[in-house]
Amino acid sequence: MDEKGKLYIVATPIGNLEDITLRALRILKEVDVIFCEDTRTTRVLLERHGINAKTRSYHAHSSAIKEDEIVAVLREGKGVALVSDAGTPTISDPGVKLVARIREELPEVAVVPIPGAAAVTAALSASGFPSSDFLFLGFLPHKKGRQTLFGEIAETSRTVVFYESPHRIMKTLESLAKVVPTRRVAIARELTKIHEEFRFGTPEELMASFTARPDSVRGEFVVLISGSY
Ligand code: SAM
Repeated sequence: MDEKGKLYIVATPIGNLEDITLRALRILKEVDVIFCEDTRTTRVLLERHGINAKTRSYHAHSSAIKEDEIVAVLREGKGVALVSDAGTPTISDPGVKLVARIREELPEVAVVPIPGAAAVTAALSASGFPSSDFLFLGFLPHKKGRQTLFGEIAETSRTVVFYESPHRIMKTLESLAKVVPTRRVAIARELTKIHEEFRFGTPEELMASFTARPDSVRGEFVVLISGSY
């Protein structure tokens, strides 16, 4: 490994374990240690690809001491990979603070993105919605700022994309029915997995469709609101 140390931000699959690049697999094999959101989840991926690597945990609740450990490893000139449970680390996932700290404290360490799956781009790419200019909101806040955000969604002519949980999807569709009743909305569910589906309609039509099939109010969701062409 380079004696300056490198931090690789490695995208992993969002469901289908084949969705990982050759470069990502090589990097995961070569690095000295992989910091994982959940080591058990990453082990499944590593085992599937025959990679026997040293793993450590680094998650949303990791302390500054854990970050110190990563900084120390990088100072030794080691190669470090950061992975999350699914998709691209730091995109609605842990790692932002860590990357900012490395860039600030260790400018000699290269932070290298290893691109791959992210639910936001997977959903957008197959939606047919305008995508040259879109607004990604991550997870919507539950309370503070939520109403303001719905106001912004109503105002914008851009395609809007956000992540949502199955517990909140009906409530969110209800709010969308109030602010954008006629806009075309897509729900991308369980992308790359067995029950992958795209559903389209106005917020009310989608609510009716989930009410008719309550078994489908489960899994992982991306919500997209079409912008105007
Ligand atoms: N870093 C991830 C990425 O690059 O997409 C996102 C992590 S965020 C904690 C998890 C959320 O992403 C889920 O609640 C869901 O909204 C969305 N998501 C992740 N995988 C998905 C999938 N296979 N299908 C649909 N949405 C997914």
